[in-house]
Amino acid sequence: SELLLEVKGLKKYFPITGGLLGRKQGEVKAVDDVSFYVKKGETLGIVGESGCGKSTTGRLLMRLIEASDGRIIFEDKEITKMSKSELRRVRRDIQMVFQDPYASLNPRHSVEQILEEPLIVHGIGSKEERKKRVKEMLEVVGLSSYHAKRYPHQFSGGQRQRIGIARALMTKPKLIIADEPVSALDVSIQAQVLNLMKDIQKEFNLTYIFIAHDLGVVRHISDRVGVMYLGRLIELADCEELYENPKHPYTKALLSAVPIPDPDLKKQTILIEGELPSPANPPSGCAFHTRCTECMDICKTTRPEEHNLNGHYVACHLYNK
Ligand code: SF4
Ligand code: MG
Repeated sequence: SELLLEVKGLKKYFPITGGLLGRKQGEVKAVDDVSFYVKKGETLGIVGESGCGKSTTGRLLMRLIEASDGRIIFEDKEITKMSKSELRRVRRDIQMVFQDPYASLNPRHSVEQILEEPLIVHGIGSKEERKKRVKEMLEVVGLSSYHAKRYPHQFSGGQRQRIGIARALMTKPKLIIADEPVSALDVSIQAQVLNLMKDIQKEFNLTYIFIAHDLGVVRHISDRVGVMYLGRLIELADCEELYENPKHPYTKALLSAVPIPDPDLKKQTILIEGELPSPANPPSGCAFHTRCTECMDICKTTRPEEHNLNGHYVACHLYNK
């Protein structure tokens, strides 16, 4: 099917500064040469541990932060080269849903004001039309116009994320980038919100990029899944193929790891042998070599190329010919 988004050689290096003069002392390669595409109507899951660059990737796609290098092509137009006004236009078509709806919803604004805001920003519709759309979108996400005059604190976490989703839908986007949209929610509520997202996707013919650390959540919603490690996309395949037949040692470790529930963070921590290296000082060669049980000499010196095994992409020296 048709491509909606193409990402080529995307990089984001953050300078590390220090000392009295704030001199540049190095850089964090938060996203380091990442390429992928997203087809119209599909969900691409992006999974990895915290600090792997998955959220940065999401923010780069909308140019909330500027890339250091690479190309982002949305419907044949290059986002990376757009003027401010072109970017404004494309931000109607691409919307974000964030992890913590409480932090992303203005507590002093009513739900109606929150949902109307993107329309006002983009100059869409008359006041009457905007109010009508607020009502419609509240119903789409399982709330009602009765909730329009209420404030974020009057809702549960799950309801607040429904409001976050309704807000993302207001401008009739084509692509929604959801960054850990259910991670802050109780497990019992997660499935409801995921199912809502699936229903909405069908109803409005939406394309999703779904970013999360939780492999189970990503599997539930994705058509294809990419795995990131220390700023790199190390494996990407059809969802079932990736979970049934993982090829990269890191993906295998992730899938066999026992999740440890963390009561403070309300999320599962992934346990893999060895510490996650600092992104400011990543290992040479294959960034996973310090934790890999199959590490070979070449892995310590040479960055692995990406291999395409019948549409299953893996960047690992085990698959060198
Ligand atoms: Fe392990 Fe080497 Fe493959 Fe990296 S390239 S995952 S170190 S086998
Ligand atoms: Mg994140």
